[in-house]
Amino acid sequence: MVIQKTTIPMDNPFDQGKRAIQEPQGDGIDDAKEKQNRCQNKKYQVSFCESTDLSYMSSGTNTLGMMGGESYRLFGKTQMLKMDPKPVRFNMVHLPIKKGLSMEIIILGSGTCVPSLKRGSPGLILRIGESILLFDSGTGTIERMLKGGITYLDLDVVLYTHSHPDHVADLVPLIFACKYGENPRRRDLPIIGGRGFKSYFQAIQGVYGPWLQPDLFQIPIREVYDDILDYNLFRVLSKPMNHIPESVGYRVESHDGKSMALSGDTDYSPNLVELARDADVLVIESALPDEMKAEGHLTPSLAGRIGREANCKKMVLTHLYPVCDTIDIVKQCKREYEGELLIAEDLMEISI
Ligand SMILES: [Zn+2]
Ligand SMILES: [Zn+2]
Repeated sequence: MVIQKTTIPMDNPFDQGKRAIQEPQGDGIDDAKEKQNRCQNKKYQVSFCESTDLSYMSSGTNTLGMMGGESYRLFGKTQMLKMDPKPVRFNMVHLPIKKGLSMEIIILGSGTCVPSLKRGSPGLILRIGESILLFDSGTGTIERMLKGGITYLDLDVVLYTHSHPDHVADLVPLIFACKYGENPRRRDLPIIGGRGFKSYFQAIQGVYGPWLQPDLFQIPIREVYDDILDYNLFRVLSKPMNHIPESVGYRVESHDGKSMALSGDTDYSPNLVELARDADVLVIESALPDEMKAEGHLTPSLAGRIGREANCKKMVLTHLYPVCDTIDIVKQCKREYEGELLIAEDLMEISI
């Protein structure tokens, strides 16, 4: 095994990893130099490796490997590598070297229940340090996770804001993939949801029977309301939202002070203002334009009001019905909120 010494700073390890797997590199060093020229962000370190020893690839997860006593995260599929008996040159994305814990959001679905080629149903990945959290799993979530370089094996915990179908539709396919995928999951898949989630889950398990009961791992379910869950390097706070009785919003805070809040579906809610207080990013629903306000949902200006009252640094409007793309919702939101504003798109990545 040879590990070249080349390391480069780069701003998007996901793209890098995927491309490396699909197109084995010719000369790692030249490639590194080329990328070094265009990468400004020094958050990640990349090593170019050549290896005949692929045994670590079958360690049960396709994202972590050990080489020379160091831990690497490999983005993308490994099956292509396993099929090739010859030495394969590929890129490894090193653990973040930025001081403190990295926090990256991937919007998986920026839409609603309305079938749309532009906006998928709700789903969001939060990568915090080495942990990967999935929030909601509407239709198409698993596929879009793959586009973001994440598989069912990578998830550390799945959190649901509520069990409306546009937020949970891919839960059954997710568990089915964990059980019957070509590389079955072997570690527990904890799920967090609002009050009533346990009985919802038991009901769907009842419908599918053994097909939804894994043998190799457990699915511990925890119901939350107004709670704080501590995970060593970060914590997750939940509060009830103003949508349906079980709805909760979340806030994730790293131990070094970074934070993201997520509303799920909600109408105006003082609890959301509290969850989003001084947050680096608030991902907030803004279902319909001001002139089409629906009960249980926000509008751009109401979302803006929450962002202003919470004093959050950046807002991302999501859960957008198609009509939102025909009206200037930025202008509506900015009537209330003067901070940085983004309109969510599927597969949009946001670094904190
Ligand atoms: Zn919804
Ligand atoms: Zn809903």
